[in-house]
Amino acid sequence: MKVLVINCGSSSLKYQVIDSESEKVLAKGLCERIGIDGRLVYQPAGSEKIITESDMPTHKEAVRMVLDALVDPKNGVLKSLDEIGAVGHRIVHGGEKFTESAVITDEMLAKVEECNELAPLHNPANIIGINACRELMPGVPMVGVFDTAFHQTMPQKAYMYAVPYECYEKYGVRRYGFHGTSHSFVSKRAAEVAGIDLNNSKIIVCHLGNGASVSAVHNGKSVDTSMGLSPLEGLVMGTRSGDIDPTAVEYIAKKEGLDFDGVMNLLNKKSGVLGISGVSSDFRDLLEAQDKGNKRAKLAVDMFVYRVAKYIGAYTAAMNGVDLIAFTAGVGENNGYVREEICRYLGFMGVKIDSRINDETHGEDKKISTDDSNVLVYVIPTNEELAIARETVRLTAK
Ligand code: ADP
Repeated sequence: MKVLVINCGSSSLKYQVIDSESEKVLAKGLCERIGIDGRLVYQPAGSEKIITESDMPTHKEAVRMVLDALVDPKNGVLKSLDEIGAVGHRIVHGGEKFTESAVITDEMLAKVEECNELAPLHNPANIIGINACRELMPGVPMVGVFDTAFHQTMPQKAYMYAVPYECYEKYGVRRYGFHGTSHSFVSKRAAEVAGIDLNNSKIIVCHLGNGASVSAVHNGKSVDTSMGLSPLEGLVMGTRSGDIDPTAVEYIAKKEGLDFDGVMNLLNKKSGVLGISGVSSDFRDLLEAQDKGNKRAKLAVDMFVYRVAKYIGAYTAAMNGVDLIAFTAGVGENNGYVREEICRYLGFMGVKIDSRINDETHGEDKKISTDDSNVLVYVIPTNEELAIARETVRLTAK
């Protein structure tokens, strides 16, 4: 079956067409600047990107352009749209309503809408994309895959905030966690590659991208993760602060004369390694600046590394041990320096890295620990689109 995977943001739409038998990507790309002007990037497998500027007042025009590109006589990868057997949509927040992926129906979408309050920037955009696809591809089965679902197995002691219980009961204030599709994919893949039994394993997944989170996966189930009610909690990220005393938030707001929106913008968009370094949110720029002697860039990298190491320590305690640590996403897959610095803190538990192999490893499944390391350490590239395609096939194949 050919599966169209859609990841819809407020002004963008990323897509891939995946052949579910070979698991190969047939074409991928994105629509940008939806509602502003519009730009389609389309890339058939093995070919150059094709860029088309064209008005996209809404997501519907964007989806239509993607579908047209896919069946284009010259550069298309499909003869007809009938070849698309199903569509998989990424949905950010499923609250407590979705513990796994679900087939999209009117009732299902109504339940997703009830979660909108928890992700006001993301869920409405996801729903707009879903509706545009349903309109243009009537009768094609569709599946929603949630960022939060994998973490619904967290025990209550891990997901509660110590605020009045009524805040949880009345408003759903609790930790949900994100990047679930990635944590699920990478933990499964890590067990497979390492040849250990997922159902009898303690795995810590470090998803280190622009957004970053760590998860503790015990016997294949998420038992804790560093993001919370929103993706703001936890690690120091590209532009997000991660963990912070709420009193500091109040204090900054008062000093800077900011309202809630203003101070949340500061914490989400202007903080993290960007805020500390004043240089960039991109680790390539930070390491370059650090090498040139920029002290704040070095501080940002040190803070990032230290926070990840602390979470690994915490999750080792949470699971009473760890068999395997997996690094994934942009920084985790590509940045040997950051991986090695993190592992330096973990010597006390017998983590040993092969520096040469670690340095040489970029974006491939690879063991980077030495044979005498107490804990296996792997680089495992994430593939959220493939995970969404697999879920879509699982729920729609007859
Ligand atoms: P997101 O999906 O959250 O936007 P990514 O997983 O793409 O983020 O990660 C982005 C980060 O990955 C950036 O900080 C970037 O520096 C880093 N990164 C991506 N590719 C490389 C690379 N080849 N070498 C070093 N760092 C990289």
